[in-house]
Amino acid sequence: MSDAAPLLLDLPLDELPAEAGRSYRRDQLAGWLYARGAGDVDAMTDLPRAWRAELAGAWRVDPFDGFERFASRDGSVRYLFTLPDGRRTEAVYMPYARRTTVCISSMVGCPAGCTFCATGALGFGRNLTRGEIVGQLLAVARAEGVAPTVIRNVVLMGMGEALLNYDAAVSAIRTMIDPRGLDLSPRRITLSTVGLPRRIERLAGEGLPLTLAVSLHAPDDETRRTIIPTAHAHDVDDVMASLHTWYAATKRRVSVEYTMLRGVNDAPWQADALADRLSGLLSHVNLIPFNVWDGSPQAGSDRATIQAFRDRLEAAGVSVSVRFSRGQDSGAACGQLSWQQSHGAAGADAPAG
Ligand code: SF4
Repeated sequence: MSDAAPLLLDLPLDELPAEAGRSYRRDQLAGWLYARGAGDVDAMTDLPRAWRAELAGAWRVDPFDGFERFASRDGSVRYLFTLPDGRRTEAVYMPYARRTTVCISSMVGCPAGCTFCATGALGFGRNLTRGEIVGQLLAVARAEGVAPTVIRNVVLMGMGEALLNYDAAVSAIRTMIDPRGLDLSPRRITLSTVGLPRRIERLAGEGLPLTLAVSLHAPDDETRRTIIPTAHAHDVDDVMASLHTWYAATKRRVSVEYTMLRGVNDAPWQADALADRLSGLLSHVNLIPFNVWDGSPQAGSDRATIQAFRDRLEAAGVSVSVRFSRGQDSGAACGQLSWQQSHGAAGADAPAG
């Protein structure tokens, strides 16, 4: 099978091949692809040999030509996948004691260009397909030697703005929650967005009670536009209105992501303005200490400033926590691993696999 062969994972579950039209064969194939996470057709031993040969000649199972694996001292593992066109994307495996989480990408690079983000510095490569998005979970599970069903939490927070790759991202999510797919609870899937109001409203109408994580990063338009170039297209009022629409449709609490940047968005008045913005919306704020990367144009707020910001929000009745990211020694910011590779800087740990 050549690299140009189509990818089985790109097919919606109902459109998977079925030997001689037998639907139970389609279900068997789906079981091998998703619940069992087979990496090639030869592993699907209870499918008829002739059909396996037919499938192997016509389709690819693994979206990736290879990967590098970077183990971090805290137990998380970063994966840098090579696609058949030579481009690279990444995922992070986080084996928490009670809930294994995988953070996956929706794009190669990202067009949003957020100033604090290593992926933004890479620019836009291309959108990932549905199969390349869900396939990251399967490839990580295979490499870790676990069944895909061990992964109970998925975060679309790696490279890319998922809502700018809307159809593929939503389609991948539908496969993740389908009992014939990965049978994940939609509540355990977090979709991270830079905050695109029209796309958030569209997502609200999909009937998917996901966890929505919105990168606000500033409560005022002037500051936000210095951090997030796409914020020139809409103001914070518009983003907040879309979050109310999201909550009305899903009854899901909104996660508000706020990366703490020294002298940019960490002043006391900005904490007060953020609390005002969130008044009346069921939300939780994650304050994210900035993980400085080689070449990043901004510095992170110090611990005392983050604590004071947090205290001010709490005093105003805002639900808030400080999120220390895992994998700091192997390239924790989204896109950081790829950025290091493309700029010749090695991660702190050597590739482990
Ligand atoms: S923070 Fe997200 S949306 Fe912004 S450039 Fe990075 S990957 Fe893209």
